[in-house]
Amino acid sequence: METLPFELGPIRPVDEADSLLIRTTRGCPWNKCEFCVNYKTMRYSRRSVEDIKKDIMAAAEYYGGHPFHSCFLQDGDSFIMKTGELLEILGFLKQHFPSLKRVSSYGRSQTMIRKSPGEIKAICDAGLNLLYCGMESGADTVLKKIKKGVTSADHIKAAQMARQAGMEISQFIILGLGGKALWQEHALETARVLNQINPDFIRVLTIGVKKGSGLEKQLREGKFQLQTEKNLIEEQRLLIDRLDGITSYYVNHHGVDLLMEARGQLPADKPKLLAIMDRYLSMPQEDRIHYTLGKRLGYYRQMDDMQDANRKLFVQGKVSEILNAYPGQFDEICHQLRAQVV
Ligand code: SF4
Repeated sequence: METLPFELGPIRPVDEADSLLIRTTRGCPWNKCEFCVNYKTMRYSRRSVEDIKKDIMAAAEYYGGHPFHSCFLQDGDSFIMKTGELLEILGFLKQHFPSLKRVSSYGRSQTMIRKSPGEIKAICDAGLNLLYCGMESGADTVLKKIKKGVTSADHIKAAQMARQAGMEISQFIILGLGGKALWQEHALETARVLNQINPDFIRVLTIGVKKGSGLEKQLREGKFQLQTEKNLIEEQRLLIDRLDGITSYYVNHHGVDLLMEARGQLPADKPKLLAIMDRYLSMPQEDRIHYTLGKRLGYYRQMDDMQDANRKLFVQGKVSEILNAYPGQFDEICHQLRAQVV
């Protein structure tokens, strides 16, 4: 594989596949969330302005005038940089990539609220105009249990500052993060917080318990219990049902999501989104198991794919093989498969 003349971090949002990637920090300054192993083995460090500038120049030369429209600043939280340094980097980036219309970054709410509204506005005006925030849940009990290090009030405050500054906001939420014990609270409180923020995008992920994560330990010790696939969709139905008065684009966008067709503009598409949940929930059990395992194995992307008779027959064979090999372990198999995708 070709070695690039500038540093790249390991992660970027799904939607930044075509973006220029510039690394401002290494790893995550928090690195304690129970479900996350993204940067577990990486020591967090800030990069110097000088090194980041060298990378920007190297990228400009390497891409030879490619007219990038978007740039994503890696890794886990660029807002941790001193505001003056971040502004300097954003200015330098614009000089070397004048075609950029959008610059985005992950931002932890806890970091953002330590800056003043004026600083967030200056950052937005300098070009960082899309915030990716891992809200995960709006329920304080869940946020505490997963060691997110923020409260729902922090999430609301950070997002409101970003919004007032003029940034677009994309909030990630994770279905299933409350487990069996807290799924209703997780759905209801997440809807409450989203209703207050009204983010431009609500991006849905589904829980997959990664090896080596704190959540895996909680699972082993019986402190966390995963829901069934059906219950995860019941949770999502409750969440969508309670979204109210907002104009976000709601999207199941990751391969780990069971119903990838669940995407639409609120409020107009809310009935459509609920109907998708209801379609799944009202399937006869046998069909629901067939679709779920077919999706988890990667044979289906959405429920309509089952209308292809040949495809359905093929998937039926694969699903039967697995269910016969592991009788009574349908949910466990799905948990394992989800963990491989996230
Ligand atoms: S989820 Fe985000 S804030 Fe939490 S440890 Fe992972 S990268 Fe850091």
